[in-house]
Amino acid sequence: MSGRKLILCCLVWAGVAGCHPAEKPLPRIAIAGLGIESSTFSPALTDEAAFHARYGSDVFGNYPFMSADSPLRKRAVWIPTIVGHSLPGGAVMREAYESLMGKMLDSLKKNGPYDGLYFDIHGAMSVVGLDDPEGDMISRIRAVVGKATIISTSMDLHGNVSQRLAQNTDLITVYRLAPHEDAIQTKERAVRELVERLESGKGKPAYKAWVPIPVLLPGEKTSTRIEPARSVFGSIDTTLAEDGVLDGGIWVGYPWADEPRNHAVVMVTGDDRSRVSQAAERLARRFWDARLGYAFVALTKPWTECLDSALASHKHPFFISDMGDNPTAGGAGDVTWTLNQLLARPEFRRPDGPSLIYASIPGPDLVRKAIAAGVGGHVDGYAGAVVDSRYSPPAHLVGTVESIVTGDRDAEVEVVVRIGSLHVIVTQKRKPYHKEVDFTRLGLQPRKTDIVVVKIGYLEPELYAMRADWIMALTPGGVDQDIEHLTYKRIERPMFPFDREMKDPDLSARLIASSDSR
Ligand SMILES: [Zn+2]
Repeated sequence: MSGRKLILCCLVWAGVAGCHPAEKPLPRIAIAGLGIESSTFSPALTDEAAFHARYGSDVFGNYPFMSADSPLRKRAVWIPTIVGHSLPGGAVMREAYESLMGKMLDSLKKNGPYDGLYFDIHGAMSVVGLDDPEGDMISRIRAVVGKATIISTSMDLHGNVSQRLAQNTDLITVYRLAPHEDAIQTKERAVRELVERLESGKGKPAYKAWVPIPVLLPGEKTSTRIEPARSVFGSIDTTLAEDGVLDGGIWVGYPWADEPRNHAVVMVTGDDRSRVSQAAERLARRFWDARLGYAFVALTKPWTECLDSALASHKHPFFISDMGDNPTAGGAGDVTWTLNQLLARPEFRRPDGPSLIYASIPGPDLVRKAIAAGVGGHVDGYAGAVVDSRYSPPAHLVGTVESIVTGDRDAEVEVVVRIGSLHVIVTQKRKPYHKEVDFTRLGLQPRKTDIVVVKIGYLEPELYAMRADWIMALTPGGVDQDIEHLTYKRIERPMFPFDREMKDPDLSARLIASSDSR
């Protein structure tokens, strides 16, 4: 029966979970997944609360395309179980992962059977003492839902696709853009394709091609804002359409974890064997051939040169990315190295010195003191270097409290401390600053500030649009962008860029066994 007939039937029988007994019932689709990218080069650990897990119908709040009156929502009986997404961070504690998985699997056991399952993950989770957590997660889900259920997975292009994940999923898709302006669109596509395969009766795609590419690069070198990634990733949709396949994409992979699965991958799904293989090989070849061209998305320099350039510049606001401890890539977010460098500079000692915002440093003790002092009060205390003190000790902040704002989901409490001409944002818990409102709600005016230093890698769209100039600083931390200096023990070799003289790899498509065949 066609999808349209199904919908008509259900409009007639509105309010009933299913259709007329004579008609084919709506497909039953579960939703589950946990997402984080976690650095194993950071001493930070991630707990269960960090996932802000949503349960049952609250899960729909993650997906604007699944609002109560959306057309997609009406095409299936949905059984959301648990979906949690954490800010990037350190490895997930094993007990946190097991607790969340226990709840997910219990809920799936209770509410089955399922025609389909939407698996919403990032793909770069590290769990203490466990390899390939997303492969583990989907295997355990598969063991509960059975072989017949069609699983559709959506991922971040900085995630990893192990063969175990590839085998257990049936449909798979991934963001095409970094920064990820197409995140919601990608999730919607994963859900819509799943519904369409169920409605049409086509079921699982017959073929899944997987091509490992021996390249490991940080996201800051593969931003799709610039070449060659702009063209390589920009060609995905046309390649898939020309070859008449279902979906697929290119995964850059995640460089701050040390497992055999950490490398780039291409995957394509569809019903025609040779077209699926051909599309995967074309994409893999394009990504590999461009390898020498991937470069940092903005000018990149050591810290002192960045700050000297910003101080000498007439372009304001001048943004500096403090990259090494970027919490949105998995840094602890409390490395004080850069802040201590700033505090030591004489230029900022007087209130009429060059204005600079530093965003941000976690410091719960200092936040407590600031609350006690109140806005306008004097504060003297320490912030940062509780989780990651490898590079610099806690920062000693002595200044005036300019604002105190509570209620942010990540930071919980944010305080602005003015020290000379510096405005330092101190948070209860770590928080990335991506948007203009993140600053203005604290009473700060980044557009009228000379220099804005943000713990971030590439600038997210609003800050990118605001910048008069921008340099990315190579600073120390758990997500050091200079990955050739990291000590890897378990990634596959040879691997670009570590083995630059390596021979051309085998980029032929590996056909992955169907999830039916286990
Ligand atoms: Zn990403």
